[in-house]
Amino acid sequence: MLALAGLPLGEHFAALDPSEDAGVRSLAHLIVGSYEDPAALEWLSEHCDVVTHEFERVPASSARRIAERTPVHPNPDVLEVAQDRITEKELFTRLGLATPPFIAVSTRAQLDAAVDELGFPAVIKSRREGYDGKGQFVVGARTDLDTCWKELRGKDLIAEAMVDFDRELSMLAARSVTGETVFYPIVENVHRKGILRLSRAPAPALEPDLQSAAESHARSVMTELDYVGVLAIELFQVGDQLLGNEMAPRVHNSGHWTIEGAVTSQFANHLRAITGRPLGSTQALGHAAMVNLIGSLPDFNEVLRIEGAHLHLYGKQPRAGRKLGHVTLVGDEPEELEERLGRLTALVD
Ligand code: AMP
Repeated sequence: MLALAGLPLGEHFAALDPSEDAGVRSLAHLIVGSYEDPAALEWLSEHCDVVTHEFERVPASSARRIAERTPVHPNPDVLEVAQDRITEKELFTRLGLATPPFIAVSTRAQLDAAVDELGFPAVIKSRREGYDGKGQFVVGARTDLDTCWKELRGKDLIAEAMVDFDRELSMLAARSVTGETVFYPIVENVHRKGILRLSRAPAPALEPDLQSAAESHARSVMTELDYVGVLAIELFQVGDQLLGNEMAPRVHNSGHWTIEGAVTSQFANHLRAITGRPLGSTQALGHAAMVNLIGSLPDFNEVLRIEGAHLHLYGKQPRAGRKLGHVTLVGDEPEELEERLGRLTALVD
């Protein structure tokens, strides 16, 4: 999607991906290799004017290696912060964004002590490498702790109080190498089994105060990290309070609606940000909903019959829990959007 946004801007792309089936293969020079492959990193630093990532588990050391010769945005330090749930939440706390209560855990005794302090239910997650609900365990009672420890032991963990939130939101923002900063309207997200299933944008019943609070948190994080590119911050809304769950230092699934639903897509703004071009308007064009296609694909023609539906397929082999594509629906009015969404969800698993 980055390459699709960049080709009309006259950009050319090379991509490093461990899979020879990478979706970008028909749009870019694809280097198949690991994110630590020295020859691949060398090639990128020699041939590219600027390097970015759209996957935050790229080792910071690889990004640093490229950054010795070529600009890398967002900078490699950002990867380090975002790869560890504890440093990420400590950053939020330091900058005034409240988080769910959390405690670092490395031993069984620490796990027991942490849930004593946080209470039940609690969410135990691996500090690193967890995504889409992987490496997570909800402990509802003391009797769950043995199974939880069996599943997650050997990893550094974070124990979090389970928040009874009203809804999940995300704030997407972009900051350019020139320091110019723009913010998208807050998005409302619905997850299923820890995987993003549905986003509505702008979030229904969006209070202006909530928007400005989320913008101010995103601005603080981007300024603190000298951030360049698109940043997503995932939030829990509890009453009129926002809690920071995590951040994604990249274009984000909850921003896919911007391709058809905003004046400038997150992908175009990410590229404009990292190449120092003026950023584009983040204004929403009416109302949008994005539904992820997870594990299996619907009948394409039935989807395309829905007015305002835009189908995006990633060219991946179906597998349980795998994001294979998404559909964005746009409408002028919320009621119209909900009617189209009802028709789409009847077709999608
Ligand atoms: P994460 O990988 O941290 O984004 O977690 C995946 C999903 O699990 C979130 O989007 C929430 O739906 C849920 N979740 C994670 N942490 C918490 C928490 N502390 N309280 C309540 N729900 C949570």
